[in-house]
Amino acid sequence: MLSLLLGSELILRPVLVAGSVSEVRAIELAAPTRPAPDAALSIPTNAMDGETVNFAIRILAGNPVGYQWSFETKSGGKDRAQLNIENAANSATPAIAYWYSTGHNKCGVDFTSVYTIKVRVAFDDGTELVKKGTFSVSVGKNWGGNVDPPMTRGAPDLRYDDKTRQWSVVGPGTLERVSNPLKLRLPTSSQFYEKVRRHEEVHVKQFEGGVLSDLFRIDSLMDWLRKTTPSAADKHALEQKVFTEIANWRQSQQVLMMKLLPAAEREAYAVSDQIEPRYIFQNCGRF
Ligand SMILES: [Zn+2]
Repeated sequence: MLSLLLGSELILRPVLVAGSVSEVRAIELAAPTRPAPDAALSIPTNAMDGETVNFAIRILAGNPVGYQWSFETKSGGKDRAQLNIENAANSATPAIAYWYSTGHNKCGVDFTSVYTIKVRVAFDDGTELVKKGTFSVSVGKNWGGNVDPPMTRGAPDLRYDDKTRQWSVVGPGTLERVSNPLKLRLPTSSQFYEKVRRHEEVHVKQFEGGVLSDLFRIDSLMDWLRKTTPSAADKHALEQKVFTEIANWRQSQQVLMMKLLPAAEREAYAVSDQIEPRYIFQNCGRF
């Protein structure tokens, strides 16, 4: 608004010619003193993969007639680089932070990729201004997922024998093996979400009917209790003993699980390693 007013203002000014101080030879139209176009970039310095951010340019002087947003990556960082700049021809635009790989090594990649955000502003006086800023996109170091082993719920049947006057474990009662759902520690908007989800889904299936399905089973617990909890005269003492032995049995199951884990991980990575992006959450020969 201010620059429009200045643009239409004409200043009449006498021009003095040497040798004839008093003589006005001509009247000239002088250009108004207009400040040079200027603008300030307003972008976040960093964001997490998948996050929606806003890029904006604030005009400090001049009369803008066009905008063009773009980005540059580090050399060799072409793979997967994209920001989905929604309104690339506006003064402000949403964009989606997207991690990219800086190299071809899929196993030793950086968790953070760096973009140079560029906006070109054209002004009505024909000048053009380019503003640049650095914008980093990170993948969380703690991102990933897991599936906890099945829980053990309920309690076995205890019965009192009148002849022996002893309490003992006689059956599984309400004991049950309860599967745990998968837990995912990354935003659903991340490009890695599907890859991690599919990996953990394999583990869920492994506990249900695969390589981990023999673990934490109630029949195994009953065998354990038969061996470790002899009858007791006091019901409460037997209950205490059962409680302790369930914990011991779970620990033994955990040990067995650790032995099966490499095979379980190999199987899960065989599925998730095929899913893009083939970086960061990859087996890379660990299992
Ligand atoms: Zn896994």
